Amino acid sequence: MNIIPSTPAAITLDALESAGWQAWIVGGWVRDSLMGRPPHDADIATNAPWRETARVLRAKGLAVHETGTKHGTVTAIVRGDAVEITTYRVEGPYSDSRHPDHVEFVDDIRLDLARRDFTMNAIAFHPNRGILDPFGGAADIEARTIRAVGDAHRRFAEDPLRVMRAVRFASQMGFAIEPSTRQSAHELAPLLERVAKERIGAEFTKLLLGAHAGRLIEDELAVVGVAVPELAALQDFKLKSKRHAYDLLGHLAHSVDAAPIDEAQRWAALLHDIAKPHANHDHAQRSAQQAQDIMRRLRVKRRVVAEACDAIAWHMTSFAPNVEAVRWFTALLGGDARRARNALTLQRSDALGHGPGNEQRAREVDIELRMLDSLISNGEALGVGDLKIDGNDVAQRSDARGKQIGQTLNALLAAVVEGEVPNERNALLASIPKAESEACEQIFQKRLEKFLTKR
Ligand code: ATP
Ligand code: MG
Repeated sequence: MNIIPSTPAAITLDALESAGWQAWIVGGWVRDSLMGRPPHDADIATNAPWRETARVLRAKGLAVHETGTKHGTVTAIVRGDAVEITTYRVEGPYSDSRHPDHVEFVDDIRLDLARRDFTMNAIAFHPNRGILDPFGGAADIEARTIRAVGDAHRRFAEDPLRVMRAVRFASQMGFAIEPSTRQSAHELAPLLERVAKERIGAEFTKLLLGAHAGRLIEDELAVVGVAVPELAALQDFKLKSKRHAYDLLGHLAHSVDAAPIDEAQRWAALLHDIAKPHANHDHAQRSAQQAQDIMRRLRVKRRVVAEACDAIAWHMTSFAPNVEAVRWFTALLGGDARRARNALTLQRSDALGHGPGNEQRAREVDIELRMLDSLISNGEALGVGDLKIDGNDVAQRSDARGKQIGQTLNALLAAVVEGEVPNERNALLASIPKAESEACEQIFQKRLEKFLTKR
């Protein structure tokens, strides 16, 4: 594990140690380096009290922000990178399962490593002193095992979020959770209810983005089903049609794996059928609503919630791979290509999530996505916003008022899509009277109808 002397971490270590303190790189950076995965931000642990850390680093001309001094953390900006430096500490009880009630600063790196969650995360590294690994973390990494540091039961009881973290690391790395650690995790999973929802949500998102998410969702339902009780409720729900190789939970898990590695798409894949047991004809809408409740509860980012729920609401509107159908669908979504792409991408994950034999449908969606791309690159009008006239033009030249104006514009867009009128100002102005007479609600739904495929 070579660390180049000029990296931000090495510069920080050197500054602290030249001033007579001891410092190590700890946590995810060491673990990822040992795994041969590209490590990201290095965390540093030191016996220097945070005020000393700040003083020493500022004396070297570095900017230091007091980002978490209650817990002994400051953040230095070193060559443009943020480096977090935390004083060696042990933690008091987590009476609210949110934050430790207090932390106690200590002088021994081994005590600091002992308060960390899993052996693979409790390894320290120093460019000269090498690896310090009191809990056998390197061997566990080698054996692809996630093992609690110390007594698993006690560690999970101390901070039940660790139960979720075990599953999310397993999803990211494909490691097995060591049997007694796993058993304790299952026993103590109910304590997750006391943990702050945003902490659970952050770990859940990481779980979903992992390469092994689908398998963990099924195998660790004892944990995942506490974080999202709506998933536990699906357990025994069988899907009826022949197309389904899996039960509902299995279908959702396979859909997650088929989805691109994107927060909104993975959340959408997980929750797209969440209301299926209680709804039938309108399960897309109802699932979108329930997904919104779940994601908001877990404090998922607003943008991700909005995108995921929009895709869910439209996941059942599938149609034959025909360019006109793609245009009607996109028009229906306000001419917003991003929304259309989101919905289609979920339709693709959904198809593949039904198991082998559904590749043909996924290929059709791929064709639709390519059609959408070429419509965009050809500069075709996708929504009324792309028309060369707007609502003021319609209002000035017709009796249309209020929502009739929008409906007239919709009729003009329909005429453009059908090739009856070019998207040119004068031609559109001349077509206003005809469009006004044809204006009706749901014009795009009606045009799309003949392309819709039964699901
Ligand atoms: P990632 O690569 O996802 O950031 P990470 O291991 O760096 O993984 P963080 O959540 O950034 O995870 O935490 C940094 C380190 O702090 C961990 O490696 C672990 O040693 C320790 N840690 C974090 N959360 C906990 C916790 N809840 N209980 C005990 N130790 C923890
Ligand atoms: Mg980290």
